[in-house]
Amino acid sequence: MAGPENFMRVSTPQPKRTLYTDAMEIFHRAADTIGLAPRVRLELEEPDYEHIFYVTAKLKDRLRPLSPEAAKAFGELPVTQVRDPNGLERLADGQIILNGKALLGSDVNIRRGHLRLPDGAVYQLVPGESQRFKAYRVQHNQARGPYKGGIRYHREVSLDLFKALAAEMTWKTAIAEVPFGGGKGGIAIDPRQYGKEELEAITLRFMYKLKKLIGPNIDIPAPDVGTNGEIMALMMRQYLDGERERVVGKAIVTGKDVRIGGSEGRVKATGQGVVYCIEDYYADKGETLKGKTYTVQGFGNVGSNAAEIMHGLGARCLAVNDADGTIFNPEGIDIAALIAHVADPKNLKRSVLGFPGAQVIEKKAFWEVPVDVLVPAALGGEITADVAEHLQVKLIAEGANGPTTPDADRVLQKRGIDLIPDIIANAGGVTVSYYEWIQNKRMESWTEAEVNAKLEHALKRNYRIIRDISRNTPRKTEMHDSRPFCVGKQVEPRLAAMILALKRIEAHYIIEGFSQ
Ligand code: NAD
Repeated sequence: MAGPENFMRVSTPQPKRTLYTDAMEIFHRAADTIGLAPRVRLELEEPDYEHIFYVTAKLKDRLRPLSPEAAKAFGELPVTQVRDPNGLERLADGQIILNGKALLGSDVNIRRGHLRLPDGAVYQLVPGESQRFKAYRVQHNQARGPYKGGIRYHREVSLDLFKALAAEMTWKTAIAEVPFGGGKGGIAIDPRQYGKEELEAITLRFMYKLKKLIGPNIDIPAPDVGTNGEIMALMMRQYLDGERERVVGKAIVTGKDVRIGGSEGRVKATGQGVVYCIEDYYADKGETLKGKTYTVQGFGNVGSNAAEIMHGLGARCLAVNDADGTIFNPEGIDIAALIAHVADPKNLKRSVLGFPGAQVIEKKAFWEVPVDVLVPAALGGEITADVAEHLQVKLIAEGANGPTTPDADRVLQKRGIDLIPDIIANAGGVTVSYYEWIQNKRMESWTEAEVNAKLEHALKRNYRIIRDISRNTPRKTEMHDSRPFCVGKQVEPRLAAMILALKRIEAHYIIEGFSQ
């Protein structure tokens, strides 16, 4: 037993390897390479603020399906006919939410808290209870402008993960030359297990708590994994509720529906940006995307839009992997048909599985499909050293945040596989978020063509600076000037991108100095 004296003693912290320290490895290498001022390094190596809070919500009554084995105990249970067709909301995990007075007026046969629906399955009736969810907002750095970054609803989130993602936003906004810093947050929740009205209640409560911490000139959220324009609309409404000057507050979130202040081109922006970078990679070699082959991991916002745009430029998609499985077609997948399949309301999991125009293969085989380009557009840490050893691709364009582990990076370099790092490849989203923010502030609305022209110029210009840093070819062209950023030797692309970010951020500390 610890004695009274040493009970409260805190042991000396040992630096241990975590997802965050792994993510920061490249930061430290870039800081060493450019001799980053020690105090700036201290400012940047940990976030400004780490907020953890809790959100509670009252859930609805629901029906939970029994396994066929367990259902045998209810062999004689007659079917319950539910009269109100809108009363039942089916979720991807098989549960059914009872909306309103779903069972009112129906012939209900309940036995020991169970009933049978016309689909033949037996369900346990689970009364709605209140539930608590853990929520986060990490505000990493604001030297260049307000904190900016997405809201993730996912079961596997942590402070460590949000720290890494928030820092990544600081680097990305610097690289994309948008006047923001970095932030990230969200809720530990699997949104597929909750009904629409439950998610609304959880989101409103989340914003109720978040409101003290953010603002259109302080910290501006956007969609990320598990959230979308609908969630952003709810967040905006909750933020503006009761405010007198609602019009100045619309810029509180980006990624909104165009009809309520969103920007044309925002939904596609991240996928579009990935493709602008890939186009520029090939343009540099005197080639185009026409006739090239590719695979995509993740077929959500980023993956599906990148796939569709690449398809439109004449490239062929041979395989797609998502959270539920992998599909493969050596002749090329019809992307428009696949998008329609995933969007079909009957496809509750929004999965590529079940698509008739392709065969199912194992995930391991997905990584080994020989193609020109792989676009990881799912979650972080998917390309491990082992995966990297087996890849049969020439280029990886990182649509996802942090898809490649540091160990895998070393393997890719050894194997000569080219890389367009996430902090430039997927910077299209935050760039068009910035355009949305400006349009809100100025009460303007730009056309999709205007947005895309600006986006293309911003990404290609900064990607070229990164390529020049990587090759150590300082130069000034009509489009870009890489002379202030090259470091006198060649460096790999991920390090080059980080060097660009750090030089731009460091300038603020050096020129403005530190507030005491
Ligand atoms: P999304 O929720 O729309 O889609 C995620 C996709 O990933 C789904 O198809 C899902 O099935 C798949 N997926 C999840 N877990 C998987 C697993 N273990 N294996 C394979 N596939 C899996 O999310 P999104 O907005 O498209 O974001 C995807 C990635 O892009 C994330 O890393 C996100 O941080 C990054 N990103 C998104 C944006 C944006 O504007 N949406 C901007 C920059 C970066």
